[in-house]
Amino acid sequence: RIYNELIEIKGNIRVFCRCRPLNSAEMANGLASVVEFDPAQDNELQVNCSDSSKKQFKFDHVFKPEDDQEAVFAQTKPVVVSVLDGYNVCIFAYGQTGTGKTFTMEGTQENRGVNYRTLEELFRISEDRRGTMRYELSVSMLEVYNERIRDLLVESSDEPIKKLEIKQAAEGTQEVPGLMEVRVFSTEDVWELLRSGSRARSVGSTSANEMSSRSHCLLRVTVRGDNLINGHKTKSHLWMVDLAGSERVGRIEVEGERLKESQFINKSLSALGDVISALASKTAHVPYRNSKLTHMLQSSLGGDCKTLMFVQISPSVADLGETLCSLNFASRVR
Ligand code: ADP
Ligand code: MG
Repeated sequence: RIYNELIEIKGNIRVFCRCRPLNSAEMANGLASVVEFDPAQDNELQVNCSDSSKKQFKFDHVFKPEDDQEAVFAQTKPVVVSVLDGYNVCIFAYGQTGTGKTFTMEGTQENRGVNYRTLEELFRISEDRRGTMRYELSVSMLEVYNERIRDLLVESSDEPIKKLEIKQAAEGTQEVPGLMEVRVFSTEDVWELLRSGSRARSVGSTSANEMSSRSHCLLRVTVRGDNLINGHKTKSHLWMVDLAGSERVGRIEVEGERLKESQFINKSLSALGDVISALASKTAHVPYRNSKLTHMLQSSLGGDCKTLMFVQISPSVADLGETLCSLNFASRVR
């Protein structure tokens, strides 16, 4: 309850920025960091541009390179747990490939990310509330690549990939008929399930990392709540989305299949930006139908739904151009 009051005060759309550390290759090459943080502020950063001007950006929270997964989750928790109170929630990780989108959402075995920590917290709270509420949690995972939807929890070894479509359901919500939904009972079930979904993401591609940078990966948690005192039933969705890399591809390398891919990515990322900024500015028309991504998320974006965007950036001078693009994109949706 307290969580929700906090969100109401701050509004339903939030943007967090996370800057990864310089990696060892960047350090070995003596690349400088162009991102500066004010030690006294946790919501501002400054970028030192090549013309020696300085650009300042403000977000709801800014995570510095030394902030760990726990620090990130502490700020994310109030948003995600509201799914237990019947709210629909969407979380996105946006940014150039290599800036830590997957690190933030999925994390590693030792440094688990938002996806896992969220499920852990949902289980913990359901246990706490078991005297008054009964919850059922289930998980789906899918990928959007070139405007095609693929189920990541279905073993598709040699069979042709089953194509999923978005259907308008009677209640005006969007459904993906045939999408696998796996009931989860404990945190032990979850980590392996998330890993297998994420491994399925790279099937059919030469390099796992290449493919994952060009597709959107969506984890959906469905919460069915049953109030044991008044009999009230709720169903809500929490979406956690690792978006395709936002980098612009060089004109020379872009041909054929690669060109089509990057056009689909641009289209869906800008459609997402358009939807969130329409919601933030309370515009009457919200253009959900311009991409599969926004269409599928329609009933979880807007209204009293909660939205959180992580804009992931690199500190390196070599990525300055993309960093500014990402920060500008994020400023537009805020
Ligand atoms: P993306 O998904 O945006 O392409 P990744 O999550 O794969 O980027 O991150 C690229 C590399 O940087 C990975 O090796 C990842 O572990 C590392 N990394 C990213 N963010 C952080 C961070 N905040 N702290 C430590 N390592 C990070
Ligand atoms: Mg990734």
